[in-house]
Amino acid sequence: MAHSLPPFRLWSSTASSTPLVPVRLDGGPTIWCKLEFLNPSGSTKDRIASFILAKAWRTGRVSEGSRVVEASSGSTSIAMAMVCAQLGLKFTAVMPEGVSSERSKIIRAYGGKVTHSPRDQGIFGALDEARRLADETGAFLPLQFENPDNAEAHRVCTAREIILDLPGGTPDAVVSGVGTGGTILGLYLGFRDHGCAAKPYVARPIRRDESGVFSDAECASASSMIPGVVEQVSKLYKPEELEGLEILDIHDRAALECARQLIRCGFPVGPSSGLNFLAALEAAAQLGDAARVVTVFPDRMERYFSTALFDET
Ligand code: PMP
Repeated sequence: MAHSLPPFRLWSSTASSTPLVPVRLDGGPTIWCKLEFLNPSGSTKDRIASFILAKAWRTGRVSEGSRVVEASSGSTSIAMAMVCAQLGLKFTAVMPEGVSSERSKIIRAYGGKVTHSPRDQGIFGALDEARRLADETGAFLPLQFENPDNAEAHRVCTAREIILDLPGGTPDAVVSGVGTGGTILGLYLGFRDHGCAAKPYVARPIRRDESGVFSDAECASASSMIPGVVEQVSKLYKPEELEGLEILDIHDRAALECARQLIRCGFPVGPSSGLNFLAALEAAAQLGDAARVVTVFPDRMERYFSTALFDET
């Protein structure tokens, strides 16, 4: 006989302070890595989901039973689904067809709904469908690609934790790939709030196949091997607003191999962590081994069992 419990609710945020660990290369630099995959739903997106939904709750934009709709092919939907479950909100994720079934299952397990948008329209089709649904139902749209509170979450939480945990001074450089741009912008601004002008580096995946390297910007940033890092969609990321910004092109296959190496070293990370780590090494090569270079490991390897990350090499 199936047992069911009476409803219960968790009344505090589970997005947590994550460890900042030094990863030291033999005879080379140390990279300070923020283990964001240790957030409870498995990614750094718990930060923005908690921050945005807590604010929406405080300001009366949502209350018990309200619906939240978000367009995302990955971690943000899962984080939103988890926080909605905690707050007693209903959740619908709009994802392009073809996204792995594990993701839909996780969202449904949290009590969320999954709606699919046409595969060939990618994330833009998902955004259109999310807006349409919200118009129809009055649902709250977090809009991670344009909501300044995305960056604000990293500015007031993630950046502050890094400043508190980094021994021997403030960071000299901060390195991240761009999806929504919330991580790089929030960390950059948060470090400035603490009087620290860390040099920003954006890690940009370059797609490579047997015929060589595609260097035009569209191909470069659309590398499907590094899910979550597609900067064209973001309305938050404005390169001209990041003083001293340097863009580092990283081959996606190298990023993937680096992620595998990080896994072999005991970090259960996804592809974008490999991208960030390789770019951080390049930043350290530019700035010298003594520089304090900070990056993030955004999510966990378990989301990628059916992808190239786990292909036999
Ligand atoms: N890595 C992964 C796995 C992601 O899902 C994302 C965001 N979509 C990023 C990196 C990039 O982070 P941000 O959105 O803060 O730019």
